[in-house]
Amino acid sequence: MKVQAAVNKTVGPIILLGAPGAGKGTQAKLIVERYGVPQISTGDLLRDHVSRGTELGKQAKAIMDAGKLVPDDLVNDMVAERLSRPDAARGFILDGYPRTLAQAQWLDLYLADKVFENQGERKLHPVVIDIAVEYNQLLRRLTGRRSCPTCGRIYNVYFQPPRVADLCDVDGAKLVTRRDDCEEVISERLRAYQRQTLPLVDFYRAKGQLLEINGDQDASAVSRDVLKVIDGHRL
Ligand code: ADP
Ligand code: ADP
Repeated sequence: MKVQAAVNKTVGPIILLGAPGAGKGTQAKLIVERYGVPQISTGDLLRDHVSRGTELGKQAKAIMDAGKLVPDDLVNDMVAERLSRPDAARGFILDGYPRTLAQAQWLDLYLADKVFENQGERKLHPVVIDIAVEYNQLLRRLTGRRSCPTCGRIYNVYFQPPRVADLCDVDGAKLVTRRDDCEEVISERLRAYQRQTLPLVDFYRAKGQLLEINGDQDASAVSRDVLKVIDGHRL
């Protein structure tokens, strides 16, 4: 999809809600391409800390391997640092954050004080998109997920296979399976989602910020719905 010429416009902030495997990362990458604002994935940021062996990475690793959520304070501080970088000055997409009520409340306070570049004192109006997907479909999406370690492109052995088995279409790198995409960790992650993240759907609905998308469609139909919703809400 073509990058839009109007890169000076602000976008979002866009919050992608949805269970593990709902397609948040897949849709976020498309929004990045179309609107030129960064994808801020707390999962990706945490995995980067783990692979660099930072203090945060050391604290997060065992928790992530067990499929549980990293403590709110650690994640909020990491998000604050990321959002303060210049590339987030005219918009951003949050993917996998917030994931608890405490994170959502922290984010509300943070955004209440934040303005985008060239927007004067204009307050930010988050667009919260919930991508809803049926449980058994989530299991297949997660067990079949593969990604490119070089460019980050996401594949699925059942639904979005690469042209040549196990190799990235873009750069030919050998695709990898995430450590936590194994069956027992997947069920723990889905439990954590039900208990800690699902309540955010009601939280954002009550604030009048929630837009619901049927994520059980193929990826291009989901993308069409996501982009329609964003275009309807751009500042
Ligand atoms: P997915 O959406 O596919 O479950 P993510 O890449 O978003 O995966 O997250 C991977 C793991 O990183 C989670 O299981 C959790 O341990 C940790 N994590 C990511 N985002 C958060 C968050 N906002 N709060 C707490 N832990 C998080
Ligand atoms: P999340 O970031 O919410 O965990 P991903 O975007 O990583 O989810 O998608 C999970 C898996 O499902 C990936 O293997 C991806 O290729 C696949 N996928 C994403 N969207 C769809 C869709 N609409 N239909 C079928 N498979 C999909």
